[in-house]
Amino acid sequence: MMHQASIGLGVRVRLLAEGPEVSAAQVVRDVTVGDYTDRQATLDFAKGCDVVTFDHEHVPTALLHEIEELGVSVRPGPEALVHAQDKAVMRRRMAELGAPNPEFEVCEDRDALIAFGERIGWPVIAKTSRGGYDGKGVWKIDGPEQAQEPFDALAQEATTVDGGVIDRSGTVIVAEEFVDFARELSALVCRSPQGQAVAYPISETVQRDGICAETITPAPDLSEEQASELQQLALRIAGELGVVGLLAVELMQRKDGSVVVNELAMRPHNTGHWSIDGANTSQFENHLRAALDLPLGDPGLRAPHVVMTNVLGGDEPDLTGALQHCFARDRRLRVHLYGKDVKPGRKVGHVTTYGEDLDDVTKRARHAAGYLMGDPDA
Ligand code: ADP
Repeated sequence: MMHQASIGLGVRVRLLAEGPEVSAAQVVRDVTVGDYTDRQATLDFAKGCDVVTFDHEHVPTALLHEIEELGVSVRPGPEALVHAQDKAVMRRRMAELGAPNPEFEVCEDRDALIAFGERIGWPVIAKTSRGGYDGKGVWKIDGPEQAQEPFDALAQEATTVDGGVIDRSGTVIVAEEFVDFARELSALVCRSPQGQAVAYPISETVQRDGICAETITPAPDLSEEQASELQQLALRIAGELGVVGLLAVELMQRKDGSVVVNELAMRPHNTGHWSIDGANTSQFENHLRAALDLPLGDPGLRAPHVVMTNVLGGDEPDLTGALQHCFARDRRLRVHLYGKDVKPGRKVGHVTTYGEDLDDVTKRARHAAGYLMGDPDA
């Protein structure tokens, strides 16, 4: 999707991909197959690039510094990116900035986690500081008897994402107060090296099994005043951390309306996929513009309501067969399929709908995504 945005900008993209079959490698011409934790392979790849950016946050910090030493711009830079890589670093920094945090503590061992739970009350959430994704590396701990589990998981070998090994050195367990949230929100902003920044409308995000299932933009029932506060918060975090490119601030909203920061992502984010079809400038284009130090584009909505629903792998391996029905039924439906092998539960695409009536827009998105997933009654 970043490649798609690069075409109109006339930018030549060189891709470092884990394998020849990954989605981006199917569409980018200049592909190097290599592992981003392989120092030499990554340095060789970066040589000759003007700018390096990412679609995930797992490239080791030390390697990013080495790429900078080659004279290649790394955007976002390693000092900013560490806040998206390491939840312990992020929590401490949010506390320093006075951004809303849940109660938290970095725990050395089971006893420290138990002491935290006894102090603030069970249940608590335990997270690995590094290497978690899509809900993996997050545990709800109901009491002392479960407190060993996250530490056992830490002791295991490094985990992998789509074939790439994640650097987990220095990984610790962060304990957090269990936030009994009513819903999750996402505040997406983009910042350029010169410090220009734009804020997208706030999205409500629906997570299922730790995976983003749907986003609704703008978030329903959010006052203009609070939406603006959350945009300001995300812009302030982007500025203080020196982020270049996209920053997604994932938020949890309590029943009383107050919010806390859940985590930060510094890349085009699933909660911003709606912007390809629903915003005047997509998150992918703005991320690239920021990486290239070009003026940023208008993040405003193209329609009053935009819903994005992810397509997860189901029983039907051929997704394109469903297009006949989906497009015939809804002429304003936008479909994005990623060219991935369909495996149960895997994100293989998304659909976006937009319009004037939120109920209608939501139903259309859910029906199309459901149909693509093999459920004609969705
Ligand atoms: P990941 O890095 O895997 O995305 P997150 O930190 O976003 O992990 O956590 C995954 C999900 O777990 C969140 O989307 C949220 O639903 C839930 N969660 C995370 N932290 C808390 C918390 N402190 N209290 C309650 N639920 C939480």
